[in-house]
Amino acid sequence: MSSFSCQYLDKNETYCIRLKTDCVPGRNGCVLKGRFAFAVPADKRVEEKAKAKNLIAKERKKS
Ligand code: SF4
Repeated sequence: MSSFSCQYLDKNETYCIRLKTDCVPGRNGCVLKGRFAFAVPADKRVEEKAKAKNLIAKERKKS
């Protein structure tokens, strides 16, 4: 269970209702952008999430 909470986080705690995309705290358009320092920059986490989603999509196509 996560201790993180945001009013725009969906009930599965993965999707941003405000931005209509994956929740990546600090990403462009996020209410936290510029308010906190993150150990891993938001842009890098967005990129990593996109790569992971692409890999999953490729694996699903194979099966
Ligand atoms: S991306 Fe930002 S605004 Fe959207 S749910 Fe995550 S923390 Fe909240």
